[in-house]
Amino acid sequence: MTECLFCKIVTGEIPAAQVMESDRTLAFRDINPQAPTHVLVIPKDHYPDFASLAGAADGLLTEVAGQAHAVAQAEGIAASGYRVVFNTGPAAGQTVFHAHAHVLGGRAMTWPPG
Ligand code: AMP
Ligand code: ZN
Repeated sequence: MTECLFCKIVTGEIPAAQVMESDRTLAFRDINPQAPTHVLVIPKDHYPDFASLAGAADGLLTEVAGQAHAVAQAEGIAASGYRVVFNTGPAAGQTVFHAHAHVLGGRAMTWPPG
């Protein structure tokens, strides 16, 4: 997906503040953070949204979830609490159509989300 922003981050064509990497996943800081910690965790391969990633059925979603928790631990927010969000589809506010988990923490989170 040559026109995909996050695919370009995977290849290094667009720079990002990387915080963690595995063979199949990448974590980097959101460019417009909504909390003291706001990190995005993505599969390196292109899946347009959560639904397609969930359907991959090869453990990739579990790896993304595992890296989200590892990021929370590394950022020191695992004990206090954090939120993992997949905005999925236009009504949920998805703007980048390469599946990504938002890892948010470092402040009290409100519920319900907007
Ligand atoms: P979503 O609206 O759930 O699709 O989330 C997309 C996220 O990507 C937003 O929180 C943006 O701030 C973030 N974003 C957009 N461009 C970049 C970039 N170049 N580097 C890091 N994060 C980005
Ligand atoms: Zn992509």
